[in-house]
Amino acid sequence: MIVELISVGTELLLGNIVNTNTQFLAEQCALLGLSMYHQVTVGDNRERLSEAIRTALGRSDVVILTGGLGPTEDDLTKETCAEVMGFAITEDPHTKERIKEYFKNSIFKVIPDNNWKQAMVPEGAVVLDNDNGTAPGLILEKEGKAAILLPGPPGELYPMFKKQVFPYLAKRQPEILRSQMVKICGVGESQVEDKLLDLIDRQTNPTIATYAKTGEVHLRITARAKSEEEAKKLIKPAVKEIKNRFGDNVYSVREEETLEMAVVRLLQKYELTVTTAESCTGGLLAGRLVNVPGASEVFREGFITYSNKAKRKYLDVSKSTLKKYGAVSSETAREMAIGGVFAADCDVCVAVTGIAGPDGGTEDKPVGLVYIATYMKEKVTVKKFRFKGNREKVREQAVVRALDLLRRSILEQYK
Ligand code: ATP
Repeated sequence: MIVELISVGTELLLGNIVNTNTQFLAEQCALLGLSMYHQVTVGDNRERLSEAIRTALGRSDVVILTGGLGPTEDDLTKETCAEVMGFAITEDPHTKERIKEYFKNSIFKVIPDNNWKQAMVPEGAVVLDNDNGTAPGLILEKEGKAAILLPGPPGELYPMFKKQVFPYLAKRQPEILRSQMVKICGVGESQVEDKLLDLIDRQTNPTIATYAKTGEVHLRITARAKSEEEAKKLIKPAVKEIKNRFGDNVYSVREEETLEMAVVRLLQKYELTVTTAESCTGGLLAGRLVNVPGASEVFREGFITYSNKAKRKYLDVSKSTLKKYGAVSSETAREMAIGGVFAADCDVCVAVTGIAGPDGGTEDKPVGLVYIATYMKEKVTVKKFRFKGNREKVREQAVVRALDLLRRSILEQYK
């Protein structure tokens, strides 16, 4: 079943308000498994709105219109839609009563005249009660097509949609869409696509979509099915196959789980405490860990050691290492990680040192060069990276790779 959205309001066209209703409705329709090919925004203008409704009804089964149901002169969605679909307008006694009730409970003692306009509905329309305002929602059905008219204010629209429109659409659309996320870290997007080419090529149900994030790739596996169980059955083997192909690069299969959450989960699981020793990321790494509720169980302190002096003072990095190899070197990263574990008296340390730019790069040590090290259970792991992008991007990528190296170091120890 094809659904189309029409947002009505000149203020949307002028950019005075952000069209959050469309985002909400699109998400809900996807959950219902509806196909959506068009989202249209039109101003408070009768001719252009008529044209948009006519076009939408010509190519879609259901048209959802939001906004323009208010009491004022420029609110013309209901009248225009009724005219295009050939409905007469009549008074709805039930809505009239509801408006009276609404005003009885509000701070306004007198009902403005123009509010009665909201009790006028297209004859034969399904009236959707508005628990949070005066404008009722409406469903107009004709020749197998439906127009659903909803109020613009999100506080009125969301509850009305969830309570009354969602079940109505679910009945019209017997199939649902369900999806599952697989989150991968440490492999580039093109590499991921390469490894999945055969699966992507023959995909019909479920489908696989890739999304590139900084240092991560997320895969969304989506199935269309008659029931929740059937959808799960379609998704499960695809997830299993992807996990087989990517092994430890998969850090989560949960939509809401971020990389730092996965890391904190692992630390909690193995009852490990962690510290951070940061140079170029200047606290960003510690900040990401602290983003996670419950991080205090595993993270007590971190070190921002930007200067050589600080690296020596807090992490006991030796003067000769700094002199011989420099602050941005595998040797310094290694000593920072070891020093961190002792200074914080904890189980694991992840250290980052690099050149974020834009200045400070040399031929030997260019901007974007970053060393990341972990130390746990007397084992040091150091990795060298060459990140691209500006200062912000380099630091962001360094944080993601540091979290990932920490995750891999823990997995390796407990395999
Ligand atoms: P009212 O009964 O309040 O007049 P209405 O159904 O006529 O409601 P509009 O007048 O079009 O709706 O919009 C009222 C308010 O609702 C807007 O000022 C805006 O705050 C919000 N709104 C309208 N459309 C959207 C949208 N697409 N996304 C987010 N907010 C919106």
